Amino acid sequence: MQKAQRMTRQKRVIMEVLRSTRSHPTADWIYEQAKKQIPDLSLGTVYRNLNLLKEMGEILELNYGSTYSRFDGYPHHHYHFQCLDCGKIYDLELPDKFPAGQEERILDGHLVHSHRLEFYGRCSECLGKKDGVQ
Ligand code: ZN
Ligand code: MN
Repeated sequence: MQKAQRMTRQKRVIMEVLRSTRSHPTADWIYEQAKKQIPDLSLGTVYRNLNLLKEMGEILELNYGSTYSRFDGYPHHHYHFQCLDCGKIYDLELPDKFPAGQEERILDGHLVHSHRLEFYGRCSECLGKKDGVQ
């Protein structure tokens, strides 16, 4: 395969793997899944493509401080909830007071061009486990 074709295929497979889940996976998880289709894939290549896709605005990188970055194949503006028990990250569909593209505004005399808002707590799955016999 030509080098350019190969790069395109890698990017496409990585994109497909990421869009196949709403679980906001790590680069490692994406690598394990994509390797099933491209056996000689390297983790470095996955990182490179994820960065590229992020710069293109195709995916989001979710940064949670000291833990590994998580990736989101759905780049529309939406909020996230992280469970502090199991670590899973869920989409939260909330009314957006500052829709993407309309964020720029003056607030208290500051020119705002973006914002982030994260939600934390215990997820519905973990809540169920606590109540049940397990
Ligand atoms: Zn949980
Ligand atoms: Mn999401």
